[in-house]
Amino acid sequence: MSEGRVAGRRTLKNWIGGEQRAPLGGRYLDDLEPATGDLLARIPDSGAEDVDLAVAAAGKAFPEWSSLSLQERASCLVRLANLVAEHSEALAEIESADTGKPLALAKQIDMARVEANLRFFAGAAQHWPADAHDMGPAGFNYTRREPLGVVALITPWNLPLYLLSWKLAPALMTGNCVVAKPSELTPLSADALWAMAKEAGIPPGVINLVHGSGVRCGQALVDHSEIKAISFTGGTRTGRMIAAAAAPRLVKTSLELGGKNPALVFADADLDQAVAGLVRAGYTNQGQVCLCCSRILVHEDLMEELSLRLTDAVANLAVGDPSSPDTDQGALISAEHQQKVLAYIDLAREQGGRILSGGKAHHPEGRCRQGYFVEPTLISGLPEHSCLHREEIFGPVVTLQSFASEDEAIELANSSDYGLAATIWTRDLATVQRTAARVKAGLVWVNGWLVRDLRTPFGGMKDSGLGREGGRWSLEFFTESKNIHLPAGV
Ligand code: NAP
Repeated sequence: MSEGRVAGRRTLKNWIGGEQRAPLGGRYLDDLEPATGDLLARIPDSGAEDVDLAVAAAGKAFPEWSSLSLQERASCLVRLANLVAEHSEALAEIESADTGKPLALAKQIDMARVEANLRFFAGAAQHWPADAHDMGPAGFNYTRREPLGVVALITPWNLPLYLLSWKLAPALMTGNCVVAKPSELTPLSADALWAMAKEAGIPPGVINLVHGSGVRCGQALVDHSEIKAISFTGGTRTGRMIAAAAAPRLVKTSLELGGKNPALVFADADLDQAVAGLVRAGYTNQGQVCLCCSRILVHEDLMEELSLRLTDAVANLAVGDPSSPDTDQGALISAEHQQKVLAYIDLAREQGGRILSGGKAHHPEGRCRQGYFVEPTLISGLPEHSCLHREEIFGPVVTLQSFASEDEAIELANSSDYGLAATIWTRDLATVQRTAARVKAGLVWVNGWLVRDLRTPFGGMKDSGLGREGGRWSLEFFTESKNIHLPAGV
């Protein structure tokens, strides 16, 4: 990989059996740069025939890969992590160009995490204890964790390589072979990682990559009879379709889906800390993180001061060219997504909402003037039942609501169909304990946001998903338990 060069205007191929293969149907899709609208690359519009080849290559590689020792598999992952570290500048440039996110964010968050995911699971799998149950005179049980076979990894566009590596590393460490399908909107960083696989010593066929649309390529992968598990991160609608397709074959699914996460700001909160944290939680990656807190629920005594301070802080976020070190907010992923976000802001106006900050498309000067930018937007005064309080907008749009009591705060927090994450801002430990227990969310942060420990369970309640990833939860998902009983005295 040449340093500092975005993989622009080239034609990608699939990676199957360690080789680059053009799609059999000869069809391609355009991959655009969100910050400019320019063509970045053409990617395979793969169909079922390409997925068949990839699954067959993975199946062929499985017996040898699954019989390697944990240390041998870990060495491959560590070598891959070393290559990611060596090329992190170039990978971050690719990710920033393909997603529209600020380059600094792609470096500090995305690429740092890709490397951490690989290193973490290389170690975690080796430190994963096996279960044993002693029955005294009736004997002894030990439980093996066996790989599943060929597994599918399907990932979204907001954190492309971050999320793909989060699935890839535990799948490989547990002895599975993989067919991955990244979002058609952000295919480039996966292609760059796959190009490193040979140098990392990953045998041909252990990891395969098929590009294409969700409806054609993704669906063919989900429907493939040889796929033993599907690890999916994306929208709730797609997650439901995948669950329905997998159910008749009893295929395991891990579904990490959407969110509409509340931030609960109590009257005793440290406002300096809360304002800085809420801006980060609301607008990181232009609000396109499943964990972003897009609903701020604030005690009525603090409403006026918090809204003034937040309005000021949001207005100071610099929107523009993602490659500039001064940029806080880059572009949204596509023109279609930009229109969707702007339509929600228009709806907010129609519903009587007050736009405290932002509220429009943004047109930077220079090379990014055709890009898909939206000003970071803060809205208050919406009716309680507004869809802006309930539906996932997945953009830089945050709403403010006030509450009078803890019960009301919890009721508002739990009023959406989602249940992924929540943040609680208070100095009172008893408030923390009561509200953290009552809020319906898989992840709760207190006086902070997105502090991640890769050993902990990650995932959502209600419409935010099914199952957990992280640490032993990922290792369990990618394996099947087999219990073996030995009689006493053997
Ligand atoms: P999406 O439209 O559901 O797509 C996710 C992935 O699924 C993409 O690779 C997509 O391919 C593919 N896909 C679409 N239809 C498919 C089908 N019928 N069969 C198989 N695969 C299919 O989601 P997105 O718009 O990319 O991502 C945004 C969503 O992801 C948000 O809702 C966000 O909250 C959620 N998310 C959740 C988490 C979490 O951990 N809970 C993390 C990040 C994002 P194409 O893109 O090529 O269509």
